[in-house]
Amino acid sequence: MKKIIIYLLFFLITALGVIFMHQMSSSKKNIKDKELVVIMLGPPGAGKGTHGIKLSAQLNLPHISTGDLFRENIKKETDLGKEALKYIKEGNLTPDNLVIDMLFDHIKKNNYKNGYILDGFPRTVNQAQTLENRLNNKAKIIALSLDIDKSLLLDRITNRVMCSKCHTPYNNKFMPPKKEGICDKCGAELFQRKDDTKEVVEQRLVAYNNETKPLIDYYNKKDELKSVDANGSMEVVYSNLLKALDLK
Ligand SMILES: [Zn+2]
Repeated sequence: MKKIIIYLLFFLITALGVIFMHQMSSSKKNIKDKELVVIMLGPPGAGKGTHGIKLSAQLNLPHISTGDLFRENIKKETDLGKEALKYIKEGNLTPDNLVIDMLFDHIKKNNYKNGYILDGFPRTVNQAQTLENRLNNKAKIIALSLDIDKSLLLDRITNRVMCSKCHTPYNNKFMPPKKEGICDKCGAELFQRKDDTKEVVEQRLVAYNNETKPLIDYYNKKDELKSVDANGSMEVVYSNLLKALDLK
């Protein structure tokens, strides 16, 4: 009788052990399976768009520009777009929740399950918190901060152009198209934004420093920030970026 009890106990402990190990491995798997949200941070012209698109291809994650999303919703006159337009017409800022609604609407429609790369959002600590609430702890956040010197930034911005059709960015000095003024990918004309001048850039930098720098501190405190030296060539910066992500 005693032997049977000992055998039973042994069996029970083994079974519990197996169940426990299984639980452990599946919870580990869940952490790994969490969707990855990469947030591109950095002053305008630091290369967020270019590197975000490159990274998107490498990680096989969609690159979402909230600016493009915004314009698309307004153009297609979606309910969210109409609502956004109301605020714009009244000269008010669109509320953070509306931008988040557009973002999650887009994610749901496209069934993005593994994560995405965000370009242009969040811009403020308040927006970061709104995003975090909506993600509800289901995603791993990495904020990539592209750090760049002001003089180089000015040089970059005043030389940048973009495809009028597919929005591929180019730079006449640092990343010129094969044929001047023409998109390599689709053959459409390239254009320069009217506000890509030294004066406007300096104004934008002041706004950026006031608004977005606290965001860098915010992610830093949460241990979700990766700083990238963005002062080199495209290749060097991208290589720095991969190192920061532990991908190289
Ligand atoms: Zn194009």
